[in-house]
Amino acid sequence: MLDIQQIRADFPILSQKVNGKPLVYFDNGATSQKPQIVIDAEVKYYQEINANIHRGVHTLSQLATDAYEISRGKIKEHINAKFAHEVLFTSGTTHGINLVSNGFASILKPGDEVIVSSLEHHSNIVPWQMLCEKTGAVLKVIPIDENGELILEDFDALLSEKTKVVTLNHISNALGIINPIKYIIGKAHAVGAAVLIDGAQAVPHLKPDVQELDCDFYAFSGHKMCGPTGTGILYGKEEWLNKLPPYQGGGEMIKEVTFEKTTYADLPHKFEAGTPNIAGGIVLGTAIDYLNSIGFENIQEYENELLAYATKRLLEIEGLKIYGTGKNKASVVSFNIDGIHPYDIGSIIDKLGIAVRTGHHCAQPIMNFFCIPGTIRASFSFYNTKEEIDQMVEAVKKAQTMLS
Ligand code: PMP
Repeated sequence: MLDIQQIRADFPILSQKVNGKPLVYFDNGATSQKPQIVIDAEVKYYQEINANIHRGVHTLSQLATDAYEISRGKIKEHINAKFAHEVLFTSGTTHGINLVSNGFASILKPGDEVIVSSLEHHSNIVPWQMLCEKTGAVLKVIPIDENGELILEDFDALLSEKTKVVTLNHISNALGIINPIKYIIGKAHAVGAAVLIDGAQAVPHLKPDVQELDCDFYAFSGHKMCGPTGTGILYGKEEWLNKLPPYQGGGEMIKEVTFEKTTYADLPHKFEAGTPNIAGGIVLGTAIDYLNSIGFENIQEYENELLAYATKRLLEIEGLKIYGTGKNKASVVSFNIDGIHPYDIGSIIDKLGIAVRTGHHCAQPIMNFFCIPGTIRASFSFYNTKEEIDQMVEAVKKAQTMLS
């Protein structure tokens, strides 16, 4: 059993008042809050070891390099990659996906196919559309049903020897649906396609095992898992990372530069041009240590309780409809109330201290599927409580009364 009050004490922002009310933070899907240990680690880096990495022979540069590479090793262990050089530091999920989609520009031919799912965040749609425009490849889409679940027979039917890339999220940000990625990876591999998993919404809730999943790429952001903004990871299988060309040219990613020809550095440096977010990369390791100290089994068990409780309490409200009613869900509830725009509910409950996301959640195709402008999304973390859910339900009821 988690001691939630003790955990909440780790997060200074949670004891804050917003609009004169105690903050109820249910926008964890957008970004998580940061524990003091992460904030302290960032400060300590700048106070004690700030220097550029992989360059200087001086002591601080070596200390910073060691800390950065220790963090890479930690992340390798965390996601169970085979090699540390399969773990690339990025600025976030968006960066990781673009790195891969750009690389495929030199591989895809006109008529090749890229499959995405209907549940994707714009950052796992637009880069692939851009790739298709560039190469003449064709984008195919796995449809969803009324519960927000992927229709797997339709996915099977889309696969052919033309399929070169299949990409989808592990967990949907707009609905919280957990996708059957292991099934999809197996089927995609059977036709020789590479698979990228967008793990942005998964890593705050579970520990992905990239070898067990057998995905070719797994991208995620640090800021959704208690780490700093501007940090992220792209895992790629060694053979794929060797096959893809570099994404950006610059310092650190080369072996030798002449005006006639440049040769590229080995992995992971081939994909890490320029000075990275050094502090962020190091502190992401601290955030992962923190999450592991709580334990992902404990996190999942508790968040499932919050999800069940919130679903039950919200459904007591007349005219409330939840989107994403599939069986396998993370702690996200996306809903609307009959006849009221989600933005109006969001604005009123904000005045009562409750932070939720309203809108299309960067997933407009899902909103189009349900013929709605957007939803109100409450996304819960292990530091949230049932009392906070009660406060949200009361606030939503109040907003409903005011707006009806
Ligand atoms: N994919 C999903 C499923 C997301 O939820 C997000 C962030 N909302 C992203 C990608 C993009 O992440 P970032 O903005 O950190 O690059």
